[in-house]
Amino acid sequence: RVVVGTKVDQNHVNWVTAYNMLTGIRFTVSRTNAKMDRDLTDADFEAKHKFSFDITGNELTPSAKYDFKFKDYAPWVFRHLRSIFQLDPADYLMSLTSKYILSELGSPGKSGSFFYFSRDYKYIIKTIHHAEHKFLRKILREYYNHVQSNPNTLLSQFYGLHRVKIPYGRKIHFVVMNNLFPPHRDIHRTFDLKGSTIGRDFREEELEKNPRATLKDLNWLRRNLHLEFGPTKKKAFIEQMERDVKLLQRLKIMDYSLLVGIHDLERGNEENLRDKTLQVFQPGGDVADDPAQSNVLMRTPSKLENARKAKELRQMIKHQKPIPMDQTTSKMPDEMIEARKNFYFYNDDGGFRATHEDDSPGEEIYYLGIIDCLTHYSFIKRAEHFFKGMVNQESQISAIPPERYGDRFVRFISGITKTREAAEKEKADAENT
Ligand code: ATP
Ligand code: CA
Ligand code: CA
Repeated sequence: RVVVGTKVDQNHVNWVTAYNMLTGIRFTVSRTNAKMDRDLTDADFEAKHKFSFDITGNELTPSAKYDFKFKDYAPWVFRHLRSIFQLDPADYLMSLTSKYILSELGSPGKSGSFFYFSRDYKYIIKTIHHAEHKFLRKILREYYNHVQSNPNTLLSQFYGLHRVKIPYGRKIHFVVMNNLFPPHRDIHRTFDLKGSTIGRDFREEELEKNPRATLKDLNWLRRNLHLEFGPTKKKAFIEQMERDVKLLQRLKIMDYSLLVGIHDLERGNEENLRDKTLQVFQPGGDVADDPAQSNVLMRTPSKLENARKAKELRQMIKHQKPIPMDQTTSKMPDEMIEARKNFYFYNDDGGFRATHEDDSPGEEIYYLGIIDCLTHYSFIKRAEHFFKGMVNQESQISAIPPERYGDRFVRFISGITKTREAAEKEKADAENT
């Protein structure tokens, strides 16, 4: 969520791409959801469907604003995943087909991926490398099984896997996943934790220029912070993390991190920086980046209006009618969180609230999850290991084999999971001996 970048207008290549992404999702999701639900078959995990969109439209696809090709992967598996994560189909479409797309411009990571937010801030579209794409398809069944037996997983929730291509453009693979951060609360600090120390320091001086930057392991340790969970929450959190990491180890995945957004309840929403750090771009319209126009960005329709739109959408899905872009609207922020209420770690206003030693509520809400979990311990990583390994202690480098990466990750996160009282007591005990 760091941000601020170049202005994206209608002529920007990403604008067309984003528009096509949404058009493709809208079409394929409503197409799959229009059918009667059924059990998954082996073939569903391998499935891929190709669609050609053009200005005139044809018997298969409705007319679109641009010419592009769209590929939909394992649509039935993702339909079932969305259902396990309790997303309402109309709701999902409503978020992703909204007239406005919120975008975090540029790439927050080094990987070159782009991130787009849905209008209501609930979903993230992340462009991924071809290798990540192939890998997700390969592990899809294992991921699916894991999620089915661990609906409270901390791992990224994948809702769709697609590919888009504009004429003469390159193929762009992307996933749709949950945005861990809430639309209605300021996140006062963000950390991306891996349990490694090498290269895991965000330069504190930069923080002045960019107060919303994502900090890393060393910044966390320097601040002597903890994930303040009392006994009950701590147990649940660590157990789930261990189960999730076991899967990642088995699949030889590494380089993932625990993303932690901290909302300080005492500070509340005083700053409202969100409006300033995000730009909105509207397909068919102009970029709304001046304050007057960004009121549009924060305007939310009434509950009634939303309910009516959702009903209309359900009818359209049922009757397989094409859904126009502006046929949709976005939801109230508080309504948004509703769907996550049934999930243990997203249950306190969309997040997981700190507790004390006696399990009474604490002063922070944590918005957290394990992200970036599609990096296979491949040849490249092994090479990196080889080179870095010669100069650094293995326990400190980030490119160690998946087994050890996972163990170190769990050890680090477990180690920082303690209440204020417990941390103070530990400190006092240490001083007394
Ligand atoms: P790299 O491989 O260099 O780490 P990447 O392009 O794979 O980068 P990620 O590590 O997935 O990117 O994410 C980069 C940043 O984007 C995170 O540190 C976080 O700030 C934000 N981010 C990623 N996923 C989510 C999410 N699900 N919810 C909220 N923010 C996210
Ligand atoms: Ca990462
Ligand atoms: Ca990555």
